[in-house]
Amino acid sequence: MDQKTYNPYVSAQTQFDNVADQIGLDNPTRDLLREPSREFHITIPVKMDDGTAKVFKGYRIQHNDARGPAKGGIRFHPQETVDTIRALSMWMTWKCAVVDIPLGGAKGGIICDPRTLSMAEQERLCRGYVRQLAKVMGPNFDVPAPDVMTNAQHMLWMMDEYETIQGSHAPGTITGKPVGMGGSLGRTEATGYGVIYTLREALKALNIDITSTSASIQGFGNVAEHAARLFTKLGGTVIAVSCWDNEDKKSYTYRNLNGIDIEKLASIKNSFGSIDKQKAMDLGLELLDGDEWIAQDVDILLPCALENQITPATLEKISDKVKVICEGANGPTTPDSDEIIKAKNIFVIPDFLCNAGGVTCSYFEQVQCNMNYFWPKEEVLEKLDQKMTSAFHAVHELSQSKNLYMRDAAYVIAINRVAEAVKLRGWI
Ligand code: GLU
Repeated sequence: MDQKTYNPYVSAQTQFDNVADQIGLDNPTRDLLREPSREFHITIPVKMDDGTAKVFKGYRIQHNDARGPAKGGIRFHPQETVDTIRALSMWMTWKCAVVDIPLGGAKGGIICDPRTLSMAEQERLCRGYVRQLAKVMGPNFDVPAPDVMTNAQHMLWMMDEYETIQGSHAPGTITGKPVGMGGSLGRTEATGYGVIYTLREALKALNIDITSTSASIQGFGNVAEHAARLFTKLGGTVIAVSCWDNEDKKSYTYRNLNGIDIEKLASIKNSFGSIDKQKAMDLGLELLDGDEWIAQDVDILLPCALENQITPATLEKISDKVKVICEGANGPTTPDSDEIIKAKNIFVIPDFLCNAGGVTCSYFEQVQCNMNYFWPKEEVLEKLDQKMTSAFHAVHELSQSKNLYMRDAAYVIAINRVAEAVKLRGWI
């Protein structure tokens, strides 16, 4: 395993600086965009079920709102750091810009492990988070959404707390809500499906028939599960899935060289994406070390878990067969890995393009909330497919015409759009 530690904020700034140099971005715009505009560091006191009180640390970081209200998820994670949230808030700005939706970038997080909290404690934590931030969020200012280990129920508690404080309904204040409570059909599938819409287009561009391809996936949370479902539906074969086991506090790779039945795998996972090991073995899956997902002899790697998983050290294990890396997670690849990936001639669908389906559907959710009129699922997914497909082609065409690495091409489009908004507003 790689011993070097990576700070995602340094990675996000390094990626930004490289492209800012390439496009000759002026210094004031560069200074503005390489850091978040606003940061809120909060403490959240929570009454625990046993009668004691516990104070959790939380953050909301708004990177940029020149193109529209800041937008981005809230993560619950025991190893959350402020720098991770800073990086993720920057990536949200680029994500919304590359798919051309009128939103900016933000991210939030609470240092906690929801797997060890009761539902009532989680509810009090969600409400406490909103009580601290209600003045600096809202439909026209900053709109949160689910992310790592947060779900529709958490969003609904947060919306309810916000509406109680404001004294009026404001469903557009948060997205990823349950369907029937202001949520959009298709939002649960949106990020994973978006990943596969971009993969489908990439394979067409590379002249590879999706039905002949195999994939190995890291993670089996919401993004990975729905990506695996659609990939399989389009004829691809998933042979390995790696995910965290909360009992053993380590990850495992579950493998079937003939292809994993995704529906069956989904039926034996818990709500945090951990798979029941015994049931997996009963299904005929081999149990390998967690890191083995990257070493599989497959055409496509889908890192759909956390940051810093593809590093020069883990790349040493990668098979020569791999043709595409499809970044479902945010920041899964460290900047020092990009040169190695280029040298291996692997096609990368960069994270903030690849996983933009979630926020795109969040935007559709806001639009539907504003109209108070909700679209059928097919309509949502069709609009999502159109957005993702056209964003992929815009990035791919730029990368072909200017001979740019896909990540750099996505950055060029996103940074130019945000820089333009900043200039039009007269900020710089
Ligand atoms: N958390 C998701 C992301 O990282 C979705 C954000 C949103 O819907 O606002 O893109």
